[in-house]
Amino acid sequence: MSEPRTPVFAANWKMSHGPAETGAFVERFAARHGPRGDATVVVFPPAISLAAFAAAASGRPDLEFGVQDVHTEVEGAHTSGISAAMVPATGATWGLAGHSERRREFGDTDVDVGRKLVRLLEVGLRPVLCVGETLDEREAGRLATVLETQIRDALRPLGREGRARLAYAYEPVWAIGTGRTASPADAAEAHAIIREQLVRAEGCDAERAVILYGGSVKPANIDALLAAPGVDGVLVGGASLDPDSWAAICAAGR
Ligand code: PEP
Repeated sequence: MSEPRTPVFAANWKMSHGPAETGAFVERFAARHGPRGDATVVVFPPAISLAAFAAAASGRPDLEFGVQDVHTEVEGAHTSGISAAMVPATGATWGLAGHSERRREFGDTDVDVGRKLVRLLEVGLRPVLCVGETLDEREAGRLATVLETQIRDALRPLGREGRARLAYAYEPVWAIGTGRTASPADAAEAHAIIREQLVRAEGCDAERAVILYGGSVKPANIDALLAAPGVDGVLVGGASLDPDSWAAICAAGR
């Protein structure tokens, strides 16, 4: 029998928690959440708070962290850009790519997302590729087409080895920050589409592909979502901002 995939609890803080709040958060969360060997906990703070996170979590190597975005270029005249090459020195080991807010607010295309994945992999970071459909796309019956296109175009510049190092997050755009959560059945359906695409078209190993669900996850629905077939963990925005709520989510399945 194959090894079960290790669940991942990932927090996307977006533009919340500057350096001062980050230190206080880690202190309170660490007091409520002891290390667990059967799951990975990773936080994506704003870039300006990476150093504060690293300092506050220095005694807790089980608390992993990552960067929310990197530039498509490694260096140059790109005011405000963050090069993936700068990230490992902070101690971060993960990187998000393709979050729907980046796509919507900054115009990131699937081609840009693919270039960011390359940059993250080049410096040894573990990327999480975020994909998901809008409500209009879902209602038009385009769920599978949208997911398959986003994955195919973002993975195009990656070799087999790079693809094997990715994790994925299914984040229906209509469920992000809206309080409207996909049902466990909706999540299972989308995760099955993604897994099937990874195996059929991208040459990935179905048993190893880690696929997280994201969209209004909270302590009240974490158990049901994690129990859905093919859901290997969660990517959480709003409910990860409070250390007690985040600790309750990270205790799921313990
Ligand atoms: C997210 O931004 O990745 C997210 C899932 O947000 P929320 O949990 O607030 O819906």
